[in-house]
Amino acid sequence: MFKFIWDLLFPIQCLGGCGQYDMWLCPKCAETFKPVKKKGNLFFISDYKDELMQKLIHTLKYNYCEEAGRDLGKLLAEAIDEEFDYCLPSPISRSRKRERGFNQAEILCRAMDIKLNLDLIKIKNTRSQMTLNREERLVNLENCFKYKNNIDIKGKKLLLVDDVWTTGTTMGEMTRELEKFAPKEIWYAVLAKGDS
Ligand SMILES: [Zn+2]
Repeated sequence: MFKFIWDLLFPIQCLGGCGQYDMWLCPKCAETFKPVKKKGNLFFISDYKDELMQKLIHTLKYNYCEEAGRDLGKLLAEAIDEEFDYCLPSPISRSRKRERGFNQAEILCRAMDIKLNLDLIKIKNTRSQMTLNREERLVNLENCFKYKNNIDIKGKKLLLVDDVWTTGTTMGEMTRELEKFAPKEIWYAVLAKGDS
């Protein structure tokens, strides 16, 4: 009932500005993001400055819209032309997850057809990376990720998934933790990539 009223008040409409109802990103507007890009071992849909992508990510993260994540995850999945043993969402802390109700990167992972591995966790609350300089970013993230190792990743090919790639510091810290368990390869998939 609540959801019904909510949908009446705030109808889902394509953020591409085409007027299409019932989806955050219609297939036609999704075309503007194609082909999804690949640079080294990173897959990404668009540049961070892309206005439509910024709107979509904001809808996903701050308006708590899981549907937006599923549409974006599917788009990303279409471009992944490699086989992976596991995909791992970039983890958020427990308190952040409680607040948001879900981890946006996990929503993206679930839209892909790759086995999900949730063993990478965030054990420390960190400040938003956006407000920090490079040095502070590194200190902020130090030892904040932990791989639980319930699933053996030795010799496996992994795909780390996040919404945004800015300086790569966060992905770098996750990679450092995962490499302790000797995976064969680590690749990355994000919705939007910054300049650096
Ligand atoms: Zn549209």
